Amino acid sequence: MDKPTLAVIIPCFNEELCIKHTAEILLKLLDELSSKEKINKNSYLYLVDDGSKDNTWNIIEGLHNNDKRVKGLKFIRNFGNQKALIAGLEGARYIGCDCAVSIDADLQQDEKAIEKFIDEYINGADIVCGIRNDRKTDSFFKKITAVAFYKTMNILGAKIPPNHSDYRLVSKKALDIMELYPEKYLFLRGFFNELGLKTAYVKFDVKPRTAGESKFNFMSLMTLALNGITSYSVVPLRFVAVLGFFMAFFGFLVGLETAAEKIFWHNSPNGWATAIILLCIFGGIQLFCLGLIGEYVGQVFQEVKARPRYIKDKELK
Ligand code: UDP
Ligand code: MG
Repeated sequence: MDKPTLAVIIPCFNEELCIKHTAEILLKLLDELSSKEKINKNSYLYLVDDGSKDNTWNIIEGLHNNDKRVKGLKFIRNFGNQKALIAGLEGARYIGCDCAVSIDADLQQDEKAIEKFIDEYINGADIVCGIRNDRKTDSFFKKITAVAFYKTMNILGAKIPPNHSDYRLVSKKALDIMELYPEKYLFLRGFFNELGLKTAYVKFDVKPRTAGESKFNFMSLMTLALNGITSYSVVPLRFVAVLGFFMAFFGFLVGLETAAEKIFWHNSPNGWATAIILLCIFGGIQLFCLGLIGEYVGQVFQEVKARPRYIKDKELK
């Protein structure tokens, strides 16, 4: 097999503090890998500026002028990390590559694992998922929410590997398949896992952020998690139906009991408390189910509008 051309995709949102350092380290890594004859000299970095408000794009332009192996794409506004990754993968497929690795701009994911990714790729894997060794660098809150998310996803039937963030290698074959999926809210972790392509796993260490702050807040993580669930599982919809059935059955029994009390024991004014409790329970359950259904209606709404996933502003090839 010829040495593969590797594209390293880096989503950047307001990353002026780390992007230069990150690009230098990754370019050095490309040199190292090509001198070890693992990758082709045409391998490149592809930085996707997700509508940064700071100096990120100017820095990317500067890097591109110094070294044409740094390529870039700028979104017209912030579209979110998943869209930046998708644009990176689509762009790399268009520019040309045999495999693409996505990695965060803050280099929290140990870049040395890329060599192991390539080894797995050469051994025939089409997808190589980076699995983090631990969550030492995460806050307590992020730790528990992440564990809850992966557990929920697994229970709901969307089998995504736990502790796999979007640090992975995908082959050209996987990128070609991605083109067949027009859905706007493609959840990459779920998508690459369900393709059935040969997948390998590589463990890596998580480091603290090189500079700057996390670009995710509670709301953006919630959105990502809900999108992951609603785009990969309809189990919650079924759960609503089953819950509705049992609640109706329960209501029927309570109704029978109330009727019996009225007819045989004539003490119907009692039960004020019961009425209130039931009112609350049913009110709550109905609202919950409505909200859940709303999530799916929202998904349908987003998809049916068929808006573009992202809008490009500038490109450096
Ligand atoms: N990111 C992005 N768009 C966003 C938020 C984040 O492209 O709206 C990028 C960010 O620049 C970084 C990666 O996604 O390269 C991961 O973000 P971050 O390191 O802030 O997340 P954390 O490691 O805290 O989960
Ligand atoms: Mg990070």
